[in-house]
Amino acid sequence: MTEIRLYNTKTRKKQVFKPLDAQNVRMYVCGPTVYDRAHIGNARPVIVFDVLFRLLRHVYGEKHVTYARNFTDVDDKINARAAESGRSIREITDETIGWYLEDMAALGNLEPDKAPRATEYIDQMVTMIAELIASGHAYAAEGHVLFDVTSYEKYGSLSGRSIDDMIAGARVEVAPYKRNPMDFVLWKPSADDLPGWDSPWGRGRPGWHIECSAMTRALFGERFDIHGGGLDLAFPHHENEKAQSCCEAGEDSFAQVWMHNEMLQVEGRKMSKSLGNFFSVRELLDQGYPGEVIRFVFLSTHYRKPMDWTEKKADAAEAKLRKWHSIINATVELNNVSAERVSRTVLDALGDDLNTHLAIARIEKEFNDETDRHDAAHQLANNLSFLGLLSLDMLSATHAVWIDKSSQLTEPQQVAMGALLDRRNKAKQMRNWVEADRIRDDLLAAGIRLIDKSEGTDWELTQDFDPTKLEALK
Ligand code: AMP
Ligand code: ZN
Repeated sequence: MTEIRLYNTKTRKKQVFKPLDAQNVRMYVCGPTVYDRAHIGNARPVIVFDVLFRLLRHVYGEKHVTYARNFTDVDDKINARAAESGRSIREITDETIGWYLEDMAALGNLEPDKAPRATEYIDQMVTMIAELIASGHAYAAEGHVLFDVTSYEKYGSLSGRSIDDMIAGARVEVAPYKRNPMDFVLWKPSADDLPGWDSPWGRGRPGWHIECSAMTRALFGERFDIHGGGLDLAFPHHENEKAQSCCEAGEDSFAQVWMHNEMLQVEGRKMSKSLGNFFSVRELLDQGYPGEVIRFVFLSTHYRKPMDWTEKKADAAEAKLRKWHSIINATVELNNVSAERVSRTVLDALGDDLNTHLAIARIEKEFNDETDRHDAAHQLANNLSFLGLLSLDMLSATHAVWIDKSSQLTEPQQVAMGALLDRRNKAKQMRNWVEADRIRDDLLAAGIRLIDKSEGTDWELTQDFDPTKLEALK
């Protein structure tokens, strides 16, 4: 059995992972607040914990792992979006959830087993808040309920802060109804035009943190194995979740292992709308990057290191994946590909705190070292499939390039051609005939005639073939 070691933010150590119950391994990851398209930073925890999900399923069996990721569908940003657009909250959250699932699937992520929405767990939140008041960890004041951080000795231990430092360093909201500036909101009053639910403290809505505490308790019970999210959530969100859940039940309750991915930047700078380097996953996909290419770039950096998205990396990843996919297409019977037969060396790399960078290096080395080229291609396909890097979309585009004519094109030309055919296939799927025809015409101008056939797109070089034009088309 593959040994899994994970870095635990709570203990600040890499530790051997021992599930509470190997028959019922439970992982919870904080999901998005749904009012807008996911940006590419939001994709990082999704990809990281998807790889962990795949590894856990491989080791413990599919039926013995439950992965839950929530949707925060009650939040002031959603209310503001509804007010400015004149649309209903439900319309906005439903639409955003649909986009999110579509975009994350395009990046090769499996769907979690459970995707609870916060608004479906309001009763459980109200119950939990009432319990916290009864046990002296929370108090009601002016229609609000607040958690009293001084009532929980370990407050700050997850993120490594002391309450005094926090007060000195942070610009916390000072509100007259708070006993201590660090006390955080469990419940707040709602005006008539905002979403609200009846409660013992009047009509109102929950604070953000209580949602994950109530949902994990409802889905998993008092203790579960892994809790994940981006590093920006460690404080205050996770610190507050832990306080709410552990103040009575003790330090060994709630999540056993806390995992945090480092943040993503773009071309060396923090993503920001004003710098013009802020983009959504959908925008990247629409620019023509196949989902696997985006995923490959993410997996090339270990999750606990800051990651830089650059066009250069994406282009290098695309060239490599297209080459591999072409070889797989030419050599391997796809029905025989099985993620279950992933290489031991790859599993060992992933077992070492999810070292995806090393896993990819090993996949490449194994492929290069194997003398039997058919076996090499077959194992490459098994390994890529395990990591979610082998989808039929990209294979079918590459397939067209390889209808026994690959030798007519150099490698960079094949890459350019694969990318264009891929984009054209997608345009056709979306019934965007203008874009599909434009790509066909551009290729013809570069001297390549496309011939659509039932088994895929065939092509031939015309006497006007101009390699520089082809390469410039990408
Ligand atoms: P949010 O919808 O802002 O709560 O974010 C959803 C998830 O995306 C959380 O796990 C965040 O930690 C994560 N996240 C947001 N921005 C980034 C980023 N730039 N890099 C990596 N993860 C991020
Ligand atoms: Zn959460």
